[in-house]
Amino acid sequence: MKEKVQKINRLFELFVGRPLQSDVSLKEYSTFRIGGKADFFFEAQNLSELRQAIFFALDQSLPFYIIGGGSNILFADEGYRGLIIKNSSKGISFFPESNEVEAFSGTKLIELVEFCCESGLAGLEFLAGIPGTVGGAIWGNAGAFGRSIGDVVARALILEKYQEREVANDFFAFGYRTSRLKEKGYFLLSTRFRLERDDPEAIKRRVKEILALRRLKHPPEGTASAGSYFKNIILPDGQKLAAGLLLDQAGVKGLKCGEAMVYPGHANFIINIGQATASDVLKLANEMKSRVKEKFGVELEEEVIYLEATASML
Ligand SMILES: Cc1cc2nc3c(=O)[nH]c(=O)nc-3n(C[C@H](O)[C@H](O)[C@H](O)COP(=O)(O)OP(=O)(O)OC[C@H]3O[C@@H](n4cnc5c(N)ncnc54)[C@H](O)[C@@H]3O)c2cc1C
Repeated sequence: MKEKVQKINRLFELFVGRPLQSDVSLKEYSTFRIGGKADFFFEAQNLSELRQAIFFALDQSLPFYIIGGGSNILFADEGYRGLIIKNSSKGISFFPESNEVEAFSGTKLIELVEFCCESGLAGLEFLAGIPGTVGGAIWGNAGAFGRSIGDVVARALILEKYQEREVANDFFAFGYRTSRLKEKGYFLLSTRFRLERDDPEAIKRRVKEILALRRLKHPPEGTASAGSYFKNIILPDGQKLAAGLLLDQAGVKGLKCGEAMVYPGHANFIINIGQATASDVLKLANEMKSRVKEKFGVELEEEVIYLEATASML
């Protein structure tokens, strides 16, 4: 086993030009602050490293998983038997002739929102306060206040296994917290957003208002969580029924399992109040689901992704 690990490390460094890390705690890379160790870990600093790391894992049939900000993931207590690639490929460019902004997929949403504020470009204000990266946001069509990131995507560069493709908005088939990236397992390299010119002060004002609204509903900044745990329910007429409302009426606020707790101020947030394990969170989430099922006959669906450790290949 040790020889196999050494071989993977050696080949990776030859192929990508920088070493892999071994036995890395995933806690540090999850806003939930939960997770065991990954066998291998690599932080790609740019698109070229991201591509190379993916190609390496494909060539070696090494199980791998891409993360951005780790703000929508619950890592397993057993960690991950393979390679976690953290995408930190950052960069933003502005194309004034079309009012388009291009961002590499590892760009943080907060940096994108700040760039748009400074440049007088409106359309992405609703992303203010959502942690994570462009890649994770497009993957799950992140949104708030009735808007989703897919609404402003013009086109993007994606990776389908080894093949790079430029695709337009309709390729993504964006829906409520979903996109074709999620359905098909494609990787996002970069995205162009189509925005509108506006007064920078007006944009900043809207961003401030959004942040203030979020502060009212959400746990204080720095609280360990992965955001809303369950998706809202889409009714047959297309209207949304807030999962938080059903959970609240099912009486889950303050419920605890180990050190995982339903945030008393928002019934759809599970928070880690200390040393919660993934198993605590999963048990608590099951209890929340069954209470809602019992009271309303409705099956809630998880928004947070649980990444299983997978079978060892070493
Ligand atoms: C306090 C808090 C508040 C939140 N509020 C909101 C909210 O209002 N609205 C909302 O929608 N979400 C919200 N979230 C959830 C989360 O922030 C978003 O889903 C965010 O877009 C996830 O981005 P990420 O980079 O952290 O993704 P990660 O958690 O790292 O990954 C999520 C998924 O995206 C995939 N992925 C990441 N990068 C790529 C890529 N380049 N190519 C292909 N797949 C990729 C990963 O493989 C994984 O399956 C909140 C989370 C927290 C902690």
